Amino acid sequence: MGEPLRETLLRLLFPHRCFCCAALLPDNGYLCPACAAALPRIQPDFFPKLPPFARVVTPLYYKAGVRDGIHRFKYDGRSYYAAFLAGLMAERLLELPGLPQFDLLTYVPPAPHKLRERGFCPAGMLARQLSGRLGLKVRDGLIGHTGNRVAQMTLSGRSDREENARKSFAGVRGVHLHGERVLLVDDVLTTGSTAQRCAHLLARAGAGEIWLVTAAAVPYQEWETSDRPPFYEKGVERDGIL
Ligand SMILES: [Zn+2]
Repeated sequence: MGEPLRETLLRLLFPHRCFCCAALLPDNGYLCPACAAALPRIQPDFFPKLPPFARVVTPLYYKAGVRDGIHRFKYDGRSYYAAFLAGLMAERLLELPGLPQFDLLTYVPPAPHKLRERGFCPAGMLARQLSGRLGLKVRDGLIGHTGNRVAQMTLSGRSDREENARKSFAGVRGVHLHGERVLLVDDVLTTGSTAQRCAHLLARAGAGEIWLVTAAAVPYQEWETSDRPPFYEKGVERDGIL
């Protein structure tokens, strides 16, 4: 069986480019051979500690080509970028022993002005791609965005980011959960302030166990000591992880 006509047309109109280096690819792949060999994967047994999440799962370091690729994904939401990242996220989740049976999948909501500018929500797109792979429904609208326009990426200090996260996300009236196990999706784990704020709101709405899955996490070495997020445990640096 050949590929469906629609796929062939899409591929001719929008040829795939390597996620990391943007080189044109001859097929429907996601990486050129060099970038595939050098993909900065996080060790499968490293889980950032970030309460109140029961567990945080993330397959890639946010550096070099991955950082460039995620940037292109966020500003040019080609679905194959989301498919690539969600594939790695799902793979990492599904290989975990004792993965809970989640009740729902949701995502960090976008700032309304970002959604207008981009026309799509990167975290939402990842959630939809994960939905099929994990057999879980995506629930929109469980967490509210206040419309705060200060982007987390413009703030470097952890306390500034925590305060900004508090100002940016709020509970949604009428959302009542009843102990559901929730998988929260975001694109990049930076200080974790945004995800933590969202998790607190989900917990306050009645969620049970909450997990976080992101496509990538900022490496340990990128942080000034004073701003280093608390989820980097002792021993992580010694072992050369992150
Ligand atoms: Zn490449």
